[in-house]
Amino acid sequence: MAFANQKGGVAKTTSVVSLAAALAERGRRVLVVDLDAQACATFCLGFDPEDLERTVADVLLGPNPRPAISVVVPTDDGVDLLPGALALASADQALAGRRGREYLVKEALEPLLGNYDWILVDCSPSLGMMTINALTAADEVVIPLQCETLSHRGVGQLMETIDDVRRLTNPRLRVAGILPTLYDGRTTHARAVLADLPSRYGVPVLRPVSRSIRFAEAPATGRSILATARSSRGAQDYRDLAASLDQVAAAD
Ligand code: ADP
Ligand code: MG
Repeated sequence: MAFANQKGGVAKTTSVVSLAAALAERGRRVLVVDLDAQACATFCLGFDPEDLERTVADVLLGPNPRPAISVVVPTDDGVDLLPGALALASADQALAGRRGREYLVKEALEPLLGNYDWILVDCSPSLGMMTINALTAADEVVIPLQCETLSHRGVGQLMETIDDVRRLTNPRLRVAGILPTLYDGRTTHARAVLADLPSRYGVPVLRPVSRSIRFAEAPATGRSILATARSSRGAQDYRDLAASLDQVAAAD
């Protein structure tokens, strides 16, 4: 499941890390794949890519690609992590002209599919080659979106990219839904934006995740909000999301 939106700050990384922890809490085997050069998911799960001997860059960009399994590390949140790397910032140039470059992530993850119930992929805020790779590898994409008018800018372009990927590299790709994030139901504006979402994009709209200050505190500890603020509203929102995704997966 890929989490994509080329806009930054819409809670892609927060959603990947929190949902992964919530699925692990339910006993699921979960892998987080960090495809953002800023490696925020990696930091949020307690690792500094500079301190790691190997990262996802060694799997995807190296002249002698390493198997993903040799790079995966366990985290304190009970999920495994394929750590991100600053080197991904130059992935588009490094891969220019390479044949099959859209399939690198799919090929790297294929040997791991049997090891996990869920693989969640955190994308960078761009529609570059790593995001195309994530969408090519994924069964489903979640689109985190802040409930503010200007947040809509760019979603149309993302939908077009998803259509392109379906046409060219991954006909199976489904939109699991838009995930409204940083939601403050006390404001009429947020409520109006939320109400408008289903008709605007014609894709499912998942249950919103509430805005909560506790999310700002978690990353510094290297643990997800499920550990740092166990009973907060935000943690519960991601537990609810995990439960509903699990249910859908079981029914499939
Ligand atoms: P992205 O990966 O899309 O760039 P992040 O997950 O890094 O977005 O989130 C951007 C900022 O918003 C971070 O500082 C994060 O702590 C904060 N944030 C995310 N979700 C929430 C929430 N539900 N309530 C309050 N702050 C949040
Ligand atoms: Mg991010």
